[in-house]
Amino acid sequence: MNVREIRPAPRVGIVSLGCPKATVDSERILTRLRQEGYRLSGDYAGADLVLVNTCGFLDSARRESLDAIGEALAENGRVIVTGCLGAEAEVITAEHPGVLAVTGPQQYDAVMEAVHAHLPPMHDPLVDLVPPHGLRLTPAHYAWLKIAEGCDNRCSFCIIPKLRGDLVSRPAGAVMREAEKLVAAGVQELLVVSQDTSAYGRDLKYAPSAWRGTEVRARFFDLARALGSLGAWVRLHYVYPYPHVDEVIALMGEGGVLPYLDIPFQHAAPGILKAMRRPANVDRTLDRIQAWRRACPDLAIRSSFIVGFPGETEDDFQLLLDWIAEAGIDRIAAFRYEDVVHAASRELPGHVPQEIKDERFHRLMMHAQDVSAARLSAKVGRTIEVLVDALDASGAIARSQWDAPEVDGVVRVTGEGLGVGQRRMVRVTGSDAYDLFAECV
Ligand code: SF4
Repeated sequence: MNVREIRPAPRVGIVSLGCPKATVDSERILTRLRQEGYRLSGDYAGADLVLVNTCGFLDSARRESLDAIGEALAENGRVIVTGCLGAEAEVITAEHPGVLAVTGPQQYDAVMEAVHAHLPPMHDPLVDLVPPHGLRLTPAHYAWLKIAEGCDNRCSFCIIPKLRGDLVSRPAGAVMREAEKLVAAGVQELLVVSQDTSAYGRDLKYAPSAWRGTEVRARFFDLARALGSLGAWVRLHYVYPYPHVDEVIALMGEGGVLPYLDIPFQHAAPGILKAMRRPANVDRTLDRIQAWRRACPDLAIRSSFIVGFPGETEDDFQLLLDWIAEAGIDRIAAFRYEDVVHAASRELPGHVPQEIKDERFHRLMMHAQDVSAARLSAKVGRTIEVLVDALDASGAIARSQWDAPEVDGVVRVTGEGLGVGQRRMVRVTGSDAYDLFAECV
């Protein structure tokens, strides 16, 4: 008989102050806690941690909130503060430096992240309907890891900031805990995504948060390094060439994260980039890419480009083709410009006729194919690590460090004993425009 040790679920106490809106916030937090299996405690002594939902409306209410935090600290010692006074974290920490975390009003996710950080939920495989790493749509061996939502940029062709708002980054500790759960569940490759990955943490002022008894800053480099320590492949998507990306290239050179950058350049002609209102200073981008390749010769760059943007001339387009060849962009996605409803670019002069967009699109794709073929042929003869995605009659369909799933090429591997989700060493025997061919070693 299999006897399972029954461990009690962690208990949270809550002190709810303030108006009915604050009470509703407390109810929502309690609901989330119960959904995740936490038990509730009616007193300080029985709680593993106490949440104080504060009010900051009047001076008397602020005083009452600060006193309530002091009482919870004295009686229990482990206190997380949320609610209206939480919007002024410095007022709280000045009087009560011992609080574990402070979040503001209606920040349900941030409160739950703080609770998870200081009192992890307990997963019961016999009762829980959802595994600890959540439900996923990807195969078991790779997973998307979203580190932020929204975007602070205002590219003229894009309405994402209108739809999703400004950048809101997840605390680094929360990202790391999710990544850890994914790796523990067998994920071999973490695909880091957001609208502007290299801007990660700017809204949090790069604040550190707790992870594994230490702290990780909400900073692109710090997060990449911490993710790289988990042992899975780490692939970075939607990065802009801000200066601090150089640090991450050094990390790639040391093997901390995959030598792969997905940078949506969208164009190369200065006038078009200006009309697009693209982020990051594109001056001297070619020099930067060349410096990156010197620091990390294996670096692969994936990018997307828009053809036929309003005002694009034949010279602009030719400049784009030359730039792609010179930069050696390994993987390319191309799009014909479309007038998106509510996008500022609709109002720009010089809209390009559809047949010219089509013609440039095909020329770009042919050009991209030539660049890709040349770059892949240089890899023939090398021994590389691949991750197996699927098995087929002659062996397996796998990916190298230079191939993101679903969008890039593959490595067609022949050999025995291959299994989905395996990482194997193979020798590259051939290449074509998009794929490599290899045999197991
Ligand atoms: S950086 Fe990306 S998401 Fe942000 S506005 Fe530009 S295209 Fe849109």
